Order: sequence, then C-alpha cells, then structure tokens
Amino acid sequence: MRLQTLTATISALLLLSTAAHANDKSVPLRAQPVADGIAMLMGAGGNIGVSTGEDGTLIIDDQYDYQAEEIAAALERLGAEPPRFVINTHYHGDHTGSNAAFSAAATVLAHDNVRIRMASLGAEAAALPNLTFDDRVTVYVNGETISVVHAARGHTDGDSIVIFNDSNVMHMGDHLFNGSFPYIDLDAGGTVQGYIENLLWALEETDDATRIIPGHGPLASADDIEQTIEVLYATREVVIRGVGDGKSVEQLVAEGLDEEFASWGKGFINEERWIQTLYKDLMMQ
Ligand SMILES: [Zn+2]
Repeated sequence: MRLQTLTATISALLLLSTAAHANDKSVPLRAQPVADGIAMLMGAGGNIGVSTGEDGTLIIDDQYDYQAEEIAAALERLGAEPPRFVINTHYHGDHTGSNAAFSAAATVLAHDNVRIRMASLGAEAAALPNLTFDDRVTVYVNGETISVVHAARGHTDGDSIVIFNDSNVMHMGDHLFNGSFPYIDLDAGGTVQGYIENLLWALEETDDATRIIPGHGPLASADDIEQTIEVLYATREVVIRGVGDGKSVEQLVAEGLDEEFASWGKGFINEERWIQTLYKDLMMQ
C-alpha cells in the first residue's frame, strides 16, 4: 500500500471510535505511518512493525494473546491482509503473545533461542516459531530486502534487530526503550555489555534519515540510540565505581543516580530496578 492511502486510512480511522473489543483486557492499537508501506502499531506490549504490499502482510512482534483480534482489526483498517509472515524479535510474551492466533496462516520467524525458550516455558505448539535461524536471515517481501540479524547477549540471548534496507527503517525490538532505562533479561542470557555492543552495531547501520521502531516508546532516530548508549555508559560507570568503593546494592539504590537521568526512570524500569540490573550484571561477570 502506498503511503498516501495508508495515511488517509489512518487519519480517517482516528476519527472513528474503534470497533467493539473482543476481550475487555484488549487495548486499541494506534497506527503511525513510518515509510511507504510500513507502519508502527502501538497499544499494549511491544510496538508492532507492519509491512504491507503486493506480497501480503509481514508483522514484527504481536503483543499479548488478548491483543490478537485488535491486531487483526488494526491490519484491516490499514487495508492489509492477515499476516503471511510474523517475525518475533525475542521470546517475551508482550512480543509473541498472538503467535498462535496467526500461525495457521503465517510463517513465524525468529532466532533459534526464541523457540527454545518458549518451548521450555511450556508454550503451545501453535505459538512456537516454525522457521528459526542462527545468525541472520533475509526476507524478500513487498519489494523490500529485510535483514533479520541476531543481536546476541543483549536484551536476551535470542533477540533480533530487523532492517528494511530499501526503506531505511529499523525495528529494534527491546534493544530500544526509547527514552527509558531498558529491561535487560539477565536470567535469559541478556548482558549490559552485549546490549551496549548491539546498540553500537545498530547505530553503525543507521544514518540521519533512518526511522527506528523501538520495542517500547515513540518512533525513534539514530540520535535516540546514541543517547541511550550514553546513558547506559554513564549509569553503569556510577555502579562500577560504587562497587569499587565497596558499596552494597542497597547503598547504591539509596544514593540513586544524578537528577539528569530522572526522566529515564519513568518507564517500565525505574531507577531502583535499573541500578539493581547494573549491579547484578556486574556480579555475574
Ligand atoms: Zn522484552
């Protein structure tokens, strides 16, 4: 679908109240155009990337299981078919929850460890990715060359960063909580150092015009990746120094971080949890 049509459809629909919800937990999805034929859906859980066009619909991440009907409705409002491809950036339930609802008609693609982790947590067979890869894989759809690249030991051990090479769009999954401290799943192979290295890698893949769909938060640019890297380095430094001075995690939490980081603690991970993450990560080295 061309951008004009997409934008017109979205504008028209923003004026209408959304259809009756199938589930009282479900959250309406707000669509934002990102590039020609590419949109972002924001609602509950991770942001969804959507590619629409002559080959069908590809979505990146699919929020919670109770969002499946909302996602289908949002795609319909965009004039898109039900998904033919679903890419999971990682295994967390707010990014893979609707897999089972779409997998009868869609190929569900993810890193090997996404399937392994979901299976070990007891996910039903229909929810598991049915096409997995190790290092990277390329999807050719809707005139686009889409690189799905493993971002190792970052947010988890099975994350991918997705690059739309022709449209200069990137979906970073939970390697970007735009403007907030990130959740790093240390118990699932995530590390702070790996997370920073993956951000540095992603930054290299961008230019000033790259539009970035973050896992959480508003649409981003390369500047937002850079800012996140700076904040991660600066706050990690505080914890490294404190530990060097013999401080406990309780002391570090009590002392807190500089006021300049206050806005970063207003998301899912507050300042206390971020300091605990940095501390625990350091202790795991
Ligand atoms: Zn996550």
